[in-house]
Amino acid sequence: MATKTPALPSICCYCGVGCGVLVEPLKNGDVAVVGNPDYPVNRGALCSKGLNLQYTVNDRSDRLLYPQMRYSRHRPLQRVGWDEALARTAAVFKTFIEQYGPDSVAFYASGQCLTEEYYVLNKLMKGFIGSNNLDTNSRLCMSSAVVGYKMALGEDSVPVCYDDIELADCLLVAGANPAWCHPILWRRVEAHKAANPSTKIIVIDPRATDSTAIADVHLQLIPGTDVVLNQALARALIENGDVDLTFIEQHAEGFEAYKAIVFERSLAESAALCGVAEADIRLAAGYLGGARAFLSMWTMGLNQSAVGVDKNLSLLNLHLITGQIGRPGAGPLSLTGQPNAMGGREVGGLSNLLPAHRNLANPAHRAEVQQFWGSGPLADTPGYTATEMFEALEDGRLKAIWILCTNPLTSLPNARQAEAALAKAKFVVVQEVSTQPETLAYADVILPAAAWAEKEGTMTNSERRISHLVKAVDAPGEALPDAEIICRFARALGFPGFDFPNAEAIYREHARLTAGTTLDISGLTYDILKTRGSVQWPYRAGQAAPDTARLFTDQQFYTPSRRAVIHPVAAAFRSEAPDDDFPFILTTGRIRDQWHTMTKTGRVSKLNQHIPQAFLELHPQDAQTLGVAEDDLVTVTSRRGDVRVAARLSAGIRPGVVLLPMHWGKRLGSDLNRANNVTSGALDPVSKEPDFKFCAVQVAKY
Ligand code: SF4
Repeated sequence: MATKTPALPSICCYCGVGCGVLVEPLKNGDVAVVGNPDYPVNRGALCSKGLNLQYTVNDRSDRLLYPQMRYSRHRPLQRVGWDEALARTAAVFKTFIEQYGPDSVAFYASGQCLTEEYYVLNKLMKGFIGSNNLDTNSRLCMSSAVVGYKMALGEDSVPVCYDDIELADCLLVAGANPAWCHPILWRRVEAHKAANPSTKIIVIDPRATDSTAIADVHLQLIPGTDVVLNQALARALIENGDVDLTFIEQHAEGFEAYKAIVFERSLAESAALCGVAEADIRLAAGYLGGARAFLSMWTMGLNQSAVGVDKNLSLLNLHLITGQIGRPGAGPLSLTGQPNAMGGREVGGLSNLLPAHRNLANPAHRAEVQQFWGSGPLADTPGYTATEMFEALEDGRLKAIWILCTNPLTSLPNARQAEAALAKAKFVVVQEVSTQPETLAYADVILPAAAWAEKEGTMTNSERRISHLVKAVDAPGEALPDAEIICRFARALGFPGFDFPNAEAIYREHARLTAGTTLDISGLTYDILKTRGSVQWPYRAGQAAPDTARLFTDQQFYTPSRRAVIHPVAAAFRSEAPDDDFPFILTTGRIRDQWHTMTKTGRVSKLNQHIPQAFLELHPQDAQTLGVAEDDLVTVTSRRGDVRVAARLSAGIRPGVVLLPMHWGKRLGSDLNRANNVTSGALDPVSKEPDFKFCAVQVAKY
């Protein structure tokens, strides 16, 4: 029987809640994982996914073990050494860069990357290759929230902390089902409500979910009408005198223009547009207006939208007109889907960002980073975003793409078009843990990466909490940590500045680059993180307080005027409207026991038992009209493709709206479970986040 060595503190690698775990290396090379009772986020509790983390490490049956390469598309992949794989990849990248310029190559990475991995990728691409073509799947997840925060508060900064849950007497949950997708946080909400029944919970969602089960009011809106609804809430707040005129006068700007917009539509008109009862809008507004402190939580329902930025701004406006920000229990809490989307944002790991919230369009900021890195000039225009990369592959502007730590042929919208684009790429590198992702079929070079618990680094969760992740076991075969692979590649290209002896050295450089910025962590070391377990940024050199729990406690925002900005967003509609041919609104969602594209959770039999197969959720009235019964196979068709799955009837979804889970990809030769066959390629014009939550489809019994 295997014996144990002491358990090592680390963090769950799934959602952005960022629960603390203890990893026990076993002598047989496996690990045991339990919740960390000392970690402030979860106090030892884990959700179903976290409780089964060890299986994803211990089951190595699908691991990539050594580099592989092929010299032409017509030849098979063959095993090669690391040096050979990286030397050829460097030669190909150099050739494209010399012939077509630095924008002919790109990296597509992930919100699962550790901060140190993001850092070296960003440094390589933006500093030394000289292009901003580094984007991640966080673009699909949080980019609308990033823009919303920047426009309203001056920078991409989550002002609150999880402890505000217990300090709030009203919670507004919009476009999210945290009971399934952020379960440990939701357990805290449930416990708070149970201990304080007068706490009001408002949930805005087109579907009844486990999260709406404890709501005092569920505003079951028509998808896409969030801005109208938020403005109706604002109108009711203003009419009721429940706005903070002192805060508005002293710390905000834009109120009068905003007030004019929200008074253009009566509450009755808004209620009709949103498909909710006017009385429920008034009830919710009463809860918000009567709250001593209200906290909002949201995720994909607001972000994954062609009007995602407007939806975010309309929610942030509710905090700004009521002055509900910068004090205990009050403020906006965007929930991140991925474990380290926040770390990526801090490092500047999107194609329009620079490190530590510096501004890409600002020449002084670019020069500052260039000088720090000792690199060439940084490009002043944003690079391709996630979906733009695949468009650029399709039309030939982009020649080579390096995909790491993500599975775009399941997760990108309009996935069949993404497949066609990848087939046209001149050169594809896939840096991966698993043999499962569909991208491997297109790879010219496959690089095996170390997985969670096999490498060291840091992550930041949704409340700005930075934690250290421990290396507990060795990676199998020749797999290497992602940061080491990128540094080896940078050296193969001949660039200086990538001789980091370990992850800690990368972290130290990243922390130094934050000095003097709003997210300054120049005082935060690996030693402090290991001793304290975690720290909420900023953490400046010499800082005495262990955490910065809240931002804007002085009501000084990061805008030039130091005032928050109330944006008078109009209620635009940019989605694909239903019509006679495609009469249903399709939305996509997540299920409780799977995470993203299932490459980890899909291998755990316990997790597959909850909902074992893809499905279409539809209202019984619609099912009756279509002649569909529970479990019947149905075909869902949009202008881009089709899906064939079993029907699940639910009175909890609005008639006229249907839902597909996003997790299933191409398996066993068929892609008919893949929701993204049908989703729309429409994007928010500013955040470039896709419209995953709204497209027009037809449904028919198969
Ligand atoms: Fe992991 Fe998120 Fe579950 Fe916590 S809530 S155990 S971070 S998946």
